Amino acid sequence: MATELTWLGHGTWSIATGGHHVLLDPFLDDSPVAPVKADEVKADFILVSHGHFDHTADVEKIARRTGATVVGCFEICEWFRAKGIDRVHPMNIGGGCAFPFGWVKMTIAHHSSMLPDGTDGGCPCGFLVTIDEKNVYFACDTGLFYDMKLIGRAGIDLAALPIGDNFTMGPDDAIEAVKLLDPKRVVPVHTKTWPVIDQDPDAWADRVHVDTDADPVVIAPGEKITL
Ligand SMILES: [Zn+2]
Repeated sequence: MATELTWLGHGTWSIATGGHHVLLDPFLDDSPVAPVKADEVKADFILVSHGHFDHTADVEKIARRTGATVVGCFEICEWFRAKGIDRVHPMNIGGGCAFPFGWVKMTIAHHSSMLPDGTDGGCPCGFLVTIDEKNVYFACDTGLFYDMKLIGRAGIDLAALPIGDNFTMGPDDAIEAVKLLDPKRVVPVHTKTWPVIDQDPDAWADRVHVDTDADPVVIAPGEKITL
C-alpha cells in the first residue's frame, strides 16, 4: 500500500503507511494554519524533534487519547513519562531503530530544545525515516549544516526542509541544503505560520528548479504527498 504523507502545516506531518499512523511534531489546536484539530488525528507513533511548543503542544493530549508511543530524544521522552505517558521510545542523535512502520534514524539539527516549562529538552533533531526502502528526511527545525551531505548519501526520495528563516534556515540556505542532500523531491515547510517566517514557497520552488536537480513539491496544509 502506498505511503501517504499529509502536511498539517508548520512542521507537522501525518504519515499513513501499511495501516500505521505516524505523527511528526503535532502542533494543531493553536496553529493558525493547521487544517485539523488534535482530537481528529490518528496516531500510533508520535515523533518529536525538539521541545518547543510549536512542536510539542499537542503531543500529550494525542498520546493520551490514542495510546501512541512518543519517540524522541531521551530528555523529551522522560518529560512525557513524568506526565504519565507510559509509552515512550527514547533515542538519541545518530541512533536508528526499527518500528512497525519503518526504520527511524535520529539526525543532528542545529537549533535549541527547551521544553515549555523550562526543562532541558536535550538535543534537537531531525529524522531520516525509511519506509518500504524509500528514504524521507525531515530536517525539522535547523540551520544549514554541511553534514547534510552525509545524510544525503542514504539516497533521499523526499526531503522536508524549513524555509521560514528567523528561527531556521531561510530560502537561501534551504537551496544550499537541497544541493547537499540531493533529494529526488523536496517540500518546503515551517513557513506561513506567522508573519516572521512568511516566505514565498512557489518562488523558492522556482529556484529549486533552476539551481538544483530536485523536484520541488509545494503543498498547502491538509494536502498530501504519495511516497
Ligand atoms: Zn519550530
